[in-house]
Amino acid sequence: MLLCTTYRRFPGDYTTIVNAPRRVCPGLRFIKQNVPEVEILEYPMWRQYVKRLKQGWDVVGFSFYQNELTEIHKMIAEARRQGIKEIWAGNYGALDYSIPPVVDRVFTGPAEDDVARVFGRRVRNEDIQHPAMMVHFSIVPGLRAQTFGLLYTAHGCPYKCSFCQTPVFERERFTINLESIERVLRYYKKLGITYLFPMDELFGIFPKFTDELTRMFARYRFHWWAQSRASIFTRNLDDWYERGLRITAVGVESMFQSSLDGMNKSQNIEEIYEFIRRSEEKRALFRIGYFMTGHEGMTAEETLEDALCMRRAGFDTHTVSVMTPFPRTDLWERIAATRGIIDYEPRHYSLQHLVWNHPYITPGQMRYLQNYIIKILVKYSDFISNGISRLIWGGLRKEGFEMLWRHVLKGPVVANVLKDKKLYFFNDCESKS
Ligand code: SF4
Repeated sequence: MLLCTTYRRFPGDYTTIVNAPRRVCPGLRFIKQNVPEVEILEYPMWRQYVKRLKQGWDVVGFSFYQNELTEIHKMIAEARRQGIKEIWAGNYGALDYSIPPVVDRVFTGPAEDDVARVFGRRVRNEDIQHPAMMVHFSIVPGLRAQTFGLLYTAHGCPYKCSFCQTPVFERERFTINLESIERVLRYYKKLGITYLFPMDELFGIFPKFTDELTRMFARYRFHWWAQSRASIFTRNLDDWYERGLRITAVGVESMFQSSLDGMNKSQNIEEIYEFIRRSEEKRALFRIGYFMTGHEGMTAEETLEDALCMRRAGFDTHTVSVMTPFPRTDLWERIAATRGIIDYEPRHYSLQHLVWNHPYITPGQMRYLQNYIIKILVKYSDFISNGISRLIWGGLRKEGFEMLWRHVLKGPVVANVLKDKKLYFFNDCESKS
């Protein structure tokens, strides 16, 4: 059984998370860690993929996102051409309506147990073992500044934001067992990694579990980055900060209450301001605000006003995405039935394009608006100056020179030695490449 991601169209063709090219596939690493019989292939070049296919497989599966659909359809066609009988699809991209007709099996949510059953075993949710995986982060593109140890600790979200695929994809809510996470932390520590990035869509939604988890982060003296809602951060800020939380990414989306209500965000603007007030005093904490343009009831002028409110709110930097309806979300159903989806080009589902018939803004206007708002909210100078003042200067004042040594001096050295694509699995404790 061969499980692959999309192929790369050119050598540097990776998705980046804030200057960090993601060259590993967490979903496939989880499956391989729990079902060692499978082979995985992460982001190959086309010729590598074709060569690997030729080795002959009973099943070829693909893990992908919506914006990779064009490449995945090409890979499926090539696999069929080479006589592969059974083709599977998983990850968020498999929610697209074009996938079920061209594959033999679609997986929604974690697939460890389903894949294990093929080999006559079971992997219950509570027994899932966490794999090792990492990304290199750069301040100046190309120069590695830090390596983040990746984690994914909890599946699912109880909220129902209309634009989000998580409640549709992650139908079961559960946590990864702490023993296996601790094994990964020990490994990261041994490698010299000092920063963690739990990629959970909503960190902290299981309070008791998160309490134990963050105590564990502190025990191993990691600094960490989490993404969550303002209210959850505010509630836990004192404890999490003392346990190493240093970067927060907050899903703000809009500073207009009417827009938040329109997308069923279940968030009050006052919660955002409360988070900013409370976090301001945490001098070593860097705060990222996720902002969204293209809200249904907003004109271009109101969108700009919204962005200026966001700028004034006081985050250290921002990300800006265009509201995009993804298949099987409430937003998709509503927009498709009322205003209409006008652009089905998969690459435009990268959160930077207007793909639906907005009542006040055309796709062309949105391109200009989006670029303009990015210039307002995502300033490299803010990133550097706030990063230095909070993460470095604030960190020095909080933790002294130990912070400078562990996170500022040692981090780049370790990052330049580690191989982020290395496949390492725990069962047999052997390096596979
Ligand atoms: S946007 Fe965040 S809070 Fe809303 S449903 Fe998605 S994961 Fe949950």
